[in-house]
Amino acid sequence: MERVLIHVHGIVQGVGFRPFIHKLVKERGLKGYIKNTSSGVELELEGRREELDRFIAELPDRAPVLAVIEKIETQYLSEPAGYEDFRILGSKTEEFRNTLISPDICICGDCLRELRTPGDRRYRYPFINCTNCGPRFTIIRDVPYDRAKTSMSAFPMCPDCDREYHDIEDRRYHAQPDCCPDCGPRVFFLDAGGNEMPGDATELARQYIKAGKIVAVKGLGGIHLACRCDREDIVNELRRRKQRDEKPFALMCRDVDCVRKICSVSAEEEKILNGFRRPIVLLKKKQPGLRHISENGRVGVMLPYTPLHYLIFGDDIDMLVMTSANLSDTPMMYRNDEAVEKLRGIADGFLLHDRDIQTRCDDSLCWVLGGAEYFARRSRGYVPFPITAGRELPPILACGAEQKASFCLSKNAYVFPSQHIGDLKNYETLENYAGQIEHFRRLFDIAPQALACDLHPDYMSTEYAQETAETGGLPLIRVQHHHAHMAACMADNGFDGPVIGLVWDGTGLGTDGTSWGAECLVGDYSDFYRFGSIRPIPLIGGDRAAKETCRVAFALLHGSGLDTSGIPNAQTCEAVLKAGINCPLSSGMGRLFDGVAAILGIKTLCSYEGQGAVLLEAAAAEDGGLYPAVLDGEPLRFDWRGMIRAIVEDMEKKTDTGLIAARFMNTLIETAVRQCTAAREASGINTVALSGGSFQNMYIMSRLPGKLEKEGFHVLRHRRVSPNDEGLSLGQLMIAAAKLGRG
Ligand code: ZN
Ligand code: ZN
Ligand code: FE
Repeated sequence: MERVLIHVHGIVQGVGFRPFIHKLVKERGLKGYIKNTSSGVELELEGRREELDRFIAELPDRAPVLAVIEKIETQYLSEPAGYEDFRILGSKTEEFRNTLISPDICICGDCLRELRTPGDRRYRYPFINCTNCGPRFTIIRDVPYDRAKTSMSAFPMCPDCDREYHDIEDRRYHAQPDCCPDCGPRVFFLDAGGNEMPGDATELARQYIKAGKIVAVKGLGGIHLACRCDREDIVNELRRRKQRDEKPFALMCRDVDCVRKICSVSAEEEKILNGFRRPIVLLKKKQPGLRHISENGRVGVMLPYTPLHYLIFGDDIDMLVMTSANLSDTPMMYRNDEAVEKLRGIADGFLLHDRDIQTRCDDSLCWVLGGAEYFARRSRGYVPFPITAGRELPPILACGAEQKASFCLSKNAYVFPSQHIGDLKNYETLENYAGQIEHFRRLFDIAPQALACDLHPDYMSTEYAQETAETGGLPLIRVQHHHAHMAACMADNGFDGPVIGLVWDGTGLGTDGTSWGAECLVGDYSDFYRFGSIRPIPLIGGDRAAKETCRVAFALLHGSGLDTSGIPNAQTCEAVLKAGINCPLSSGMGRLFDGVAAILGIKTLCSYEGQGAVLLEAAAAEDGGLYPAVLDGEPLRFDWRGMIRAIVEDMEKKTDTGLIAARFMNTLIETAVRQCTAAREASGINTVALSGGSFQNMYIMSRLPGKLEKEGFHVLRHRRVSPNDEGLSLGQLMIAAAKLGRG
């Protein structure tokens, strides 16, 4: 007999870890105890050495799906203590109990089987779940996480469910939302006027959808609008009612085979698509088609994730439009009364239920890059799992930027990034943002000692941070936008720097008061300098240039000494530019994309942010061609004028637009490599961190990292948070921690 002390570090609490250990220990005939600690769990086990070794070896592979094991430390102790059984001990201080809350997880295979088994007591029951699946974060009102503090408090367990809940051998052991048709929530269907209709609710919804109607469906973190995707007239009607012009819709498909009918799906993409977190995955469309769903080369697709979704699809619906129910950029709806009231005239029917959603949580959205998620939006299925910082951090609230707002809170060695909030440009979104901050603070019991925000004084998040800091008498650390992006990428990779931060995005306020956007920074968490950028572009008419991208096209052509007569309103542009009124300079990469997309005639009037860039990427063909990649000055700027002249020459030669688009992006990649090489020569730093919304371009992301690596660079890119502004609060937090002198 030998005795071993095991520390498992990582996310191993609240994920069904202790029942799993119980099972494994019983299989091996071991004795001892398990208890929670601040960084994970502690076990002491006694048994035969080979059984103990096998237990340790099998631990990582057999751990529950939600567990994240970072490190296992083992130490064989001198003598057996003579344990008589195996015990799950309560933590002494309770301080770290339930620190971590599970995200919402899609229905598991076992539950899906029961859902489809006639005679099972949960046959066709839309709220079936178990320890390995179901709602979590979105139904929690307060901690510690148990049924009384969730939406399930309204549904006392029946004796059958109670028995399962208390049986450690049962797969519903301690599953807080466990329920059945006798004791749990019920689903119902309302007509357009909000009146409940008699009959099978799910069947009614199916009939409505099949007949071409638009139905509101309550999911895990909010309400969707669902309709047929195969009929252009229905989708256009949805666009009309939702006042959504050109922005792509997401689809939900019954299974992967259905996805393959419209998209190419790699094995890696299938793994993420079919995984238990069920994000929307941006997949390449099979050409041609689905333009009424998505005008670009990809379409966002997810698989069903609740039992209710599976019941809606049945075995005869292949795919549906599944879009968040919201109005003009306000947050996704999640309450029954709100939906019925505000979706009047938009939804023809409502498939709702009486299990309340406590916390709004939109669908996550990602590409699959290098076999893993590359996030546009990290939300349902991932939040509120923390990012491990690899060091103790003081409690800080980082308030994010304005577009794609997010926040982060730190505690111990964890950083908790918020779910998707959206653009902070209306009262409803700000209210949601502030409410989610309060919710996170309460759930994770964090009292921030400092705040961090963007340098931009007019962001709503900056105003929020200022007020909160003043009220609480807390220090406020203002972080330059691109520095925050760079730091976010460092933290995302657990790399302390220093780095060359190549940050390409639309806009962010620079330390010199001008608008920055395509920056090559050098530094670490505590400091940075601006090594390189691009030649500034005058934004004719200021903010109008973001939508009317032909204004940017004018600026690029005019700046390159080229003929501008083909541009709409060229004379007005010229007059405004000459007068120099409302023509702020921008070094935004997003603007360069907009301008080139407009010159190429791909898009001259954008209806949503980044549209020009996305369509340009979609248009690109395969080509190795390059335009002049000229760098000069200090900071070392990419002078785009030679490139613009070459683009226009190619256009005059009637070169295919797809080839020009590819050559344009190749030029940017070449510029990036040259800029980084110069930065390395100047600084001796060999690590490049890639961040910013422009690195959501898969043409660039599938080429640039490899090119840099070929030049000997160590390349960091985002893995756990988004490269766009949503990921930036993580960087703000790390910078604030460093500036507080404790990071
Ligand atoms: Zn399950
Ligand atoms: Zn029950
Ligand atoms: Fe940004």
